[in-house]
Amino acid sequence: MNQDCLFCKIINNEIPSDRVYEDDQVIAFNDINPQAPFHVLIIPREHISTTNDLTSENANLLGHMILTAKNIAAENNLSDPGYRLIMNCNEQGGQTVYHIHLHILGGRQLRGLG
Ligand code: 5GP
Ligand code: ZN
Repeated sequence: MNQDCLFCKIINNEIPSDRVYEDDQVIAFNDINPQAPFHVLIIPREHISTTNDLTSENANLLGHMILTAKNIAAENNLSDPGYRLIMNCNEQGGQTVYHIHLHILGGRQLRGLG
């Protein structure tokens, strides 16, 4: 828990969110400013600021985040049409919240990458 972290506050229900999934390792909720018809964020319950802070000890967690994304996409009929998974890192990567998160974007044709 990082006292100043927005997503840690969401995990602790200090800030409300529209959760779509949760388990002992991660929570998933709708993005407040969706960039596509479907835009969900998956975050670890553990505070990790950026992908630069990841170590081999986080390998299982990262795998779990991606498998969770796959399952959430399937439950929302996105498997066949497709979707995009993104993790932004630091300023030039477009990161604005410094608690790692996996974006799931879908529901329209996505173009470009940056
Ligand atoms: P980043 O730019 O760091 O990759 O993504 C941060 C995402 O968090 C953005 O898409 C932004 O809309 C979302 N976001 C920021 N504040 C909140 C919030 O309070 N609630 C929710 N649900 N999403 C948020
Ligand atoms: Zn945090």
